[in-house]
Amino acid sequence: MHKATETVLEIDLNALAQNYRYLTSKIEKSTRVMGVVKAFGYGSDSAAIAKELVALGVSYFAVAYPNEGVALRKADIETPCLVLHPLPATFKQIVDHCLEPAIYSRAMLTAFIAFAEKEGLSKYPVHLKFNTGLNRLGFLADDLDFISEKVSNTKSVKIKSMFSHLAASEDASEKVFTESQIAQFEKISEKIIDNIGYKPLRHMLNTSGVLNYPEAQYDMVRTGIGLYGFGNDPEENKHLKPVATLKTVISQIHTVNEGETVGYNRAFKATKTTQTATLPVGHADGIKRIFGNKRGWVTVHGKKAPIIGNVCMDMIMIDVTDIDCEEGDEVIVFGENPSADELSQVIATIPYELITGVSQRVKRVVCRK
Ligand SMILES: *Cc1c(COP(=O)(O)O)cnc(C)c1O
Repeated sequence: MHKATETVLEIDLNALAQNYRYLTSKIEKSTRVMGVVKAFGYGSDSAAIAKELVALGVSYFAVAYPNEGVALRKADIETPCLVLHPLPATFKQIVDHCLEPAIYSRAMLTAFIAFAEKEGLSKYPVHLKFNTGLNRLGFLADDLDFISEKVSNTKSVKIKSMFSHLAASEDASEKVFTESQIAQFEKISEKIIDNIGYKPLRHMLNTSGVLNYPEAQYDMVRTGIGLYGFGNDPEENKHLKPVATLKTVISQIHTVNEGETVGYNRAFKATKTTQTATLPVGHADGIKRIFGNKRGWVTVHGKKAPIIGNVCMDMIMIDVTDIDCEEGDEVIVFGENPSADELSQVIATIPYELITGVSQRVKRVVCRK
């Protein structure tokens, strides 16, 4: 393990491998894994993550936007890559980098086929996205005849896969709804297969889907958060290991006397002699301002040190009165302790938001612990 001498986001590829093995232990050997590496690999380093995932056996990637796929191509990653949320303005970028669009509406299908024909493409792989209840993106069951006719009348595209996304796969109380989404997808996808006369891949499950509904794994699963170490469930988290650790160091220690204040707006007032430490990480790095005033904490030598006063853009101050520490000592913002899961609960969010919020200012360090 590398000792921090500045603020870094450490990315542990061995944790990624462990998480991959745990998730794949829940599915058949023949089921493909699509590694979801959108948003910089959930805030980490998408190229480093993707390279390791290729070595582990992932056969597809998913990103949200074309730029994210281009970043993989620039890192010499040639694995097929689904773009979950393309727009007509990005078709050229998608095709130029051998990325594969999710097609989610009649207008998109029409526009992509027109584009593909104009470019002289043949059997360009596209993925049909169906809305089975999330009501975010996707075709509905009444679009099936339209899709089949459009696709049968062109040689420019080929349906590589069909997929849908679960709205509440982590929530046991929504089992009936989730099962109805799976049943709808089954029906829709069977009908498309009947109509077009070949069998595209099918996929439905995100991380919690893999953990809770493995019966709907079809040909492939789309795992994101689980690979990064979170299972949306305390029991599952025990089997997973956070890939990212946000570390920093103590820049300066102050002794603040009773009655003195710390930080902007004098938000912290010392009621006794207090030792404070200033850390080179702030809201511009992803430490949300709401963590200020003792809502959030960091770990110094294994001990909890609350964030005092207001979070600044580039710094936070912590209370280290009861911790034996000095300038230059390492501080854990999140990782194993505190976990991004614990910290996110404090501000009523989810680890997805916390880990993707580490800004690009923070240096990424890839390691194997
Ligand atoms: C982000 C995303 C995923 C991954 O979900 P996790 O909960 O992180 O596993 C899968 N499918 C779609 C469509 C997504 O947008």
